[in-house]
Amino acid sequence: MLVEGAILDADGARPSYVRIEHGIVVETGTIGTESTRGKERKIHGIVTPSPINGHTHLGDAVSTREPPNVSFSELVAPPSGYKFRLLAEAKPAEKRRAMRAALHRMRQEGIAVTVDFREEGETGVRELRRAAEGAGVRAVILGRPVGQPRESAEIERILEVADGIGLSSCREESADVRHEVAAVCRARRKFYALHASEEVREPPEVYLDPRPDLVVHLTWAEPSDLEQVRDAGTSIAVCPRSNALFGRRPLLGAMERAGNRVLLGTDNAMLQSPSIWRELEFAYVTSRLFRDPASAMFLARAALVEPWRWLGEEERSHLVAGGPAVPLVFRLPPEDPAYQIVTRAAEYLMVPTASRAAPTAESERAGGIDE
Ligand SMILES: [Zn+2]
Repeated sequence: MLVEGAILDADGARPSYVRIEHGIVVETGTIGTESTRGKERKIHGIVTPSPINGHTHLGDAVSTREPPNVSFSELVAPPSGYKFRLLAEAKPAEKRRAMRAALHRMRQEGIAVTVDFREEGETGVRELRRAAEGAGVRAVILGRPVGQPRESAEIERILEVADGIGLSSCREESADVRHEVAAVCRARRKFYALHASEEVREPPEVYLDPRPDLVVHLTWAEPSDLEQVRDAGTSIAVCPRSNALFGRRPLLGAMERAGNRVLLGTDNAMLQSPSIWRELEFAYVTSRLFRDPASAMFLARAALVEPWRWLGEEERSHLVAGGPAVPLVFRLPPEDPAYQIVTRAAEYLMVPTASRAAPTAESERAGGIDE
């Protein structure tokens, strides 16, 4: 397949042709110079690397009904909010089916990886691992301890099967627990992450101590907080649709100005679909609604580039011949590619490329996930 139009990847946006064979980029270059000389099926459009959903809670896909009209804490706060009651009441098989359905939804959109905060301890992590087997979307799973008080043995057990730990927030976890979790994650080369400044502003000195690899939300943050997060080398996952349900928003324009590294996520699967294309459009529009516009390129990078870098797999965000990026092809006008992708991309505009299976994580290759 020969795509004539534009590339949008880690190196920016540019006019180009891209030849794809069996889901792999085999040739790129100046339009009109391709080796096939008109003998191959030609498509006009934009080629991007596969996106990553930077923050999900797939477990709560177990309910897709409209949530009750209650406060934020009554809805999602551990241990007894509505969401946690749903999780506790649902049977394991039911949860696996729901998570698998959410993964399929993401696969239809070409999402290669989801970074999931999985509740319910080691069991929760194992359930998602099983749901993700053969689903075509890699689950990077950050587990969460359930035992009270927190015990090192449980954290170690979770990290046997998880890619890291994703804590609720520093309002629920003491400094001692955070330090222990972060130290164990570092020693095992796993991710340490937590939600921060979601409902109220929290001081960065607290959530950045110890330094997390990722903080989620920062809906309440001063410009100086964003600078501290940037200087700490911590990335931010933002979830604009989820925040909007509770009358708040991530400071997208301010984050772009501060030079933060931002990943785009869709948050709780019980609140909205894990659609990265819908999230991108909403992010673009609402940053303007609040007169704090973020550029289309900044938002596109939050879905297509920054999360790969965060995972340590930056090469998957560069579309080069023979590279490991899994290309997506969109039937969209090639002018202003970032703007097209952010405001107009949808799965029905994607052209099948006989794609390889999504890249497999070390942890999935390790296998041995049985229940
Ligand atoms: Zn979350």
